[in-house]
Amino acid sequence: MITTATCINYYHICHRKLWLFSNGIRMEHTSDTVYDGKLLHDRSYPQRAEKHTEIEISAIFNGFELSGKIDFYDAKEKVIHEIKRSDKIEDAHEWQVKYYIWLLELNDITGVRATLEYPKLRSTLDVILENKDRKYLTDIIPKIALLKESEECPLKINSKICKNCSYYDLCYVVE
Ligand code: SF4
Repeated sequence: MITTATCINYYHICHRKLWLFSNGIRMEHTSDTVYDGKLLHDRSYPQRAEKHTEIEISAIFNGFELSGKIDFYDAKEKVIHEIKRSDKIEDAHEWQVKYYIWLLELNDITGVRATLEYPKLRSTLDVILENKDRKYLTDIIPKIALLKESEECPLKINSKICKNCSYYDLCYVVE
């Protein structure tokens, strides 16, 4: 089973969300949050596509298949740009872009950094990959694979973030 940047992101949000997504249960089409995010992505930086490249990368690490699609990569400056609709800077966002940097390193592309862009906050956050991050990613890849392949769906987390999750109806309404 391939680990993607979405898996890394969801792992840091909710293990149940990761499991549902990985087991083919998709609710994004019902989510206004996801739709708003796509619109924001398309409209915030209309000129962005002209200057940056979309790249898909993959690697095999310790027997695990990894992949990622970076929407905006500035190959000249070696900067990944990732736009987030959120009005809050989240760990999950940082790990998603750290994962991209790590994937690039696994493909012998080094010296890359990332900028998280939050149009709603009018704010950006620069992200680099440190040795402790590489170690952490190395540790969680097998954990993510185990979680995804588990026969048991993890429990609901009953968190305030659930209200904005595309699986909210599935977790709390359809019982
Ligand atoms: S609604 Fe909450 S418990 Fe359910 S998948 Fe989303 S974050 Fe996890």
